[in-house]
Amino acid sequence: MPRIILLGAPGSGKGTQAVKLVEKLGIPQISTGDMLREARKNGTEMGKLASTYMDGGSLVPDEVVIGIVKERLGMKDLEKGFILDGFPRTIPQAMALDKVLEDLNIKLDHVVEIDVPFSMIVPRITGRRSCPECKRPFHISFLKPTVENHCDDCKVELIQRSDDTEEAVTQRLEAYQKQTKPLVEYYSEQKILRRVDGDGELEEVFSKIINILS
Ligand code: AMP
Repeated sequence: MPRIILLGAPGSGKGTQAVKLVEKLGIPQISTGDMLREARKNGTEMGKLASTYMDGGSLVPDEVVIGIVKERLGMKDLEKGFILDGFPRTIPQAMALDKVLEDLNIKLDHVVEIDVPFSMIVPRITGRRSCPECKRPFHISFLKPTVENHCDDCKVELIQRSDDTEEAVTQRLEAYQKQTKPLVEYYSEQKILRRVDGDGELEEVFSKIINILS
């Protein structure tokens, strides 16, 4: 029953690896980025607020994100485990998560840090595309669809995230360095941090993660 956090800079491949882990392990992915984008799409007050931070590449305030994760972690489908993707991203979020898990009487098994050199990140992010229906990730150079700019499964046109632009990426990397990187130390101290070199083929990185989990 793995309970996993995937940690890593934007563009490190967290989301892509999370989707593969969901397929392999049959446990849900909890992506705060996806949840916030969904709220934005639905035009909720929270979605509108989050949007102002997301578009500029800044982090959404802790209390907002902690609130949605708390609610999600209380749901029944997590009995077999879960993959947290993109949460926590700050020390207060990590502390809040510890508290929620303690209250639920469950423990984290692994925090997997996917490490990718910053120089690789901009081309990775700006070339990212995804299917608006099934959310399957693609890349214009590294993970090309069979038919240009169309989902292999749903056949619909792929989309690009509004914060996957070069300007927003710079801000997102800065936020990662300042606010999220300290979590490496936080989870090292808890002795559950495992580092994976993310500078490789998707399948290669995936098998390294699977090795850690087994
Ligand atoms: P992601 O899809 O994980 O790259 O997240 C996209 C954007 O959503 C981020 O750049 C933040 O603005 C916001 N976001 C997602 N997760 C969090 C989080 N745990 N804390 C704060 N902001 C977040």
